[in-house]
Amino acid sequence: METRPLKLTQLLQQKDGVLQNRWRDSARQLSTRLDAFSGDSGVFDEVRGLILDLVTLVERSGSVEQAVDAEFKEILSHLKALQANHQMTSTDMVFLLFSMRDAVGEAVREIVRAAHESQPEAPAHLQAVGQVSMLLNRLGLVFFEGAMRLREDGGGQDVLAIEYALLYERARQMAITDRLTGLYNFGYFLERLREERLRAERYQRLLSLVILDIDHFKKYNDSNGHPAGNEVLKKIANILKQEAREVDIVARYGGEEMVLILPETSRRRAAELAERIRQRTAETLFDRMQSQPLGKITLSAGVATFPVDAATEDDLIKKADNSLYQAKSRGRNRVVAFEPPIKITLSYRPYRQVSKVALVGNFNNWDKETDPMAPQPDGSFQFVIALNPGLYHYKFVLDDAEWIPDPNCPERVHDGLGGDNSVLRVQG
Ligand code: GH3
Ligand code: MG
Ligand code: MG
Repeated sequence: METRPLKLTQLLQQKDGVLQNRWRDSARQLSTRLDAFSGDSGVFDEVRGLILDLVTLVERSGSVEQAVDAEFKEILSHLKALQANHQMTSTDMVFLLFSMRDAVGEAVREIVRAAHESQPEAPAHLQAVGQVSMLLNRLGLVFFEGAMRLREDGGGQDVLAIEYALLYERARQMAITDRLTGLYNFGYFLERLREERLRAERYQRLLSLVILDIDHFKKYNDSNGHPAGNEVLKKIANILKQEAREVDIVARYGGEEMVLILPETSRRRAAELAERIRQRTAETLFDRMQSQPLGKITLSAGVATFPVDAATEDDLIKKADNSLYQAKSRGRNRVVAFEPPIKITLSYRPYRQVSKVALVGNFNNWDKETDPMAPQPDGSFQFVIALNPGLYHYKFVLDDAEWIPDPNCPERVHDGLGGDNSVLRVQG
């Protein structure tokens, strides 16, 4: 069964030179054609026009999700005209669109950097350009699909193929998007959580999960009606989108609950992000928010982190959800990070006069983070830490300068930097 693909592998390996020559030829042809376009100021005029159209679209509709189908179609028909006028292939179009995407991003970053002080709206500009890049990506994919179909049906159906590709892309987008908020939906959240968990496991990275829930939202709906409640949901979803990084996944978990999947993020950093979102929400003006018990719209959030707090997706959700429950029962409008069950006190009395001592270890992450230790009346310094069962490495830092292992801890390992770490074993 395996002999056929193997034969082709061998053939290609034997005739490696043929492949290399062909590859060089086609790369050269493509770059010659693209060179001609990039030198043609007529093409640039059209490129500029298209970019401005996309920026206008984004500025008017606020987000890519709301980019209206009709307008998208119009842009696509401009592109098709451009393709016809300059006799470009679909492959040329894909490269043209992706080069526009890179160019507009770099150009705006350059302009914003140069005018940094005098441009308070720089973050908004960068966000808009992110959206434009996404649209250009999407358009590029549409032509890519078009190119694939063209090969299959022998040509002639270009326009139709592109329209189908556009429909397909839109259907795919709709299947993973929540209609009301424009966030990803629950199904996509589960899929990505699994993927990200596997990735975190494979590369020994942290992955944090934040679950957020609007406080007393039933009351807001009861007092102001469901449509007003929907507006609140949309506004909060936008805060989440703005605060999240590009790699983060923001989804609607259900009802008035939203989630953030944060790759490569420690529990502490995740809690900081959730805290920013909580604060911004509490400071945002919402219609008729005086009807709420606190006189404003607030939310509560729970945080948990893989692999330190949970070993599976289900467990991670459960731990974050328990933390959210804690946040609710402690009075709402707050963020609670999962609290590991075992409390350890590390105590250190410096062998010389120092003004501060910090603790550095892999308690919550694989990155180094230091925690200030509290000075005690007897001259020692102390730090209380909550840990899950496991094996940890740590040391103390005196006045930000001297790194030493814990003299009270007999077990040590090399730190790979010429020194030693103390070893802490926490049993379940
Ligand atoms: P808590 O502070 O404990 O979270 O109180 P709560 O009232 O927010 O909690 P509860 O779970 O009792 O109520 C959630 C409410 O959220 C119920 C429903 O009125 C509202 N809700 C859920 N989904 C939507 C939605 O899509 N639109 C609107 N407007 N309201 C929704
Ligand atoms: Mg709820
Ligand atoms: Mg609620």
